[in-house]
Amino acid sequence: MSALSIVIGENTPILRKKTVPIGTITKEIKKLLSDMKETVVVAKGAGIAAPQVGRNERLCIAMIGNKLVALVNPFITWKSETTAIAEEGCLSLPDLWMDVSRSTDIILEFQTEAGKKRELKLSGFDARVVQHEVDHLEGILIVDHRK
Ligand SMILES: [Zn+2]
Repeated sequence: MSALSIVIGENTPILRKKTVPIGTITKEIKKLLSDMKETVVVAKGAGIAAPQVGRNERLCIAMIGNKLVALVNPFITWKSETTAIAEEGCLSLPDLWMDVSRSTDIILEFQTEAGKKRELKLSGFDARVVQHEVDHLEGILIVDHRK
């Protein structure tokens, strides 16, 4: 595994582009996911999305249940109407901390690195991290949540 360099800046084009779901999970994609995990560990983050390492695939890593989980083609299929506000940072926006309102509970569909389909109901911190990372896959950053 090797840490990748992180794309910085709220107006950087790759961070503003919607990502594309992937078909086959190739060896190259598996290597990318393990490098992305390493990048989160080194940067002491809670997750990272493909655009943050200069890629356009619908892939991210998110801290779920205190573990870094690789999410292939993640989609949030349900969000609770109940929301909560908490401070978030972003590895692509160093030194910025912002209060962001998020749904407290979500249902997430994704595939594992092995291509298995999974559905998870998440709440609290886990739900927040996943919403932040899935936002990245749509080209959305925390600054867009500014009111
Ligand atoms: Zn981020």
